[in-house]
Amino acid sequence: MQDCLFCKIAAGEIGGPHVYEDEMVVAFDDISPQAPVHTLIIPKQHCANLNDEPDVALLGHILQVAHEVARIKGIDQSGYRVVQNNGPDAGQTVFHLHFHVIGGKELSLGMA
Ligand code: 5GP
Ligand code: ZN
Repeated sequence: MQDCLFCKIAAGEIGGPHVYEDEMVVAFDDISPQAPVHTLIIPKQHCANLNDEPDVALLGHILQVAHEVARIKGIDQSGYRVVQNNGPDAGQTVFHLHFHVIGGKELSLGMA
């Protein structure tokens, strides 16, 4: 999609090195990390969020990649949070589907 920031990152047109990449997804570190580890996983194919009903195989794959990212970052055993914000009330600011993998410290217990 033209003028989508995360489409450009997925295509390697902008941004730094990827933490992980395969045929379906790209993972890269968040520009404004909320914890020692804060990595985003995005599909290469554009979709805005869960309201676009992305393929279940893609969604399942992203959760497996979340584990792989945590393993790469060395936080799979210490623990990590996977967060996905949908729409304005959830604080979604980039409208290309993305999952946050957050960890590397004891995270706050609050959810809302
Ligand atoms: P949201 O609030 O939409 O769930 O999360 C968007 C995330 O994208 C934020 O954590 C923000 O810091 C991150 N972000 C925004 N622009 C860029 C960018 O250009 N590069 C990277 N690596 N992260 C970005
Ligand atoms: Zn996009």
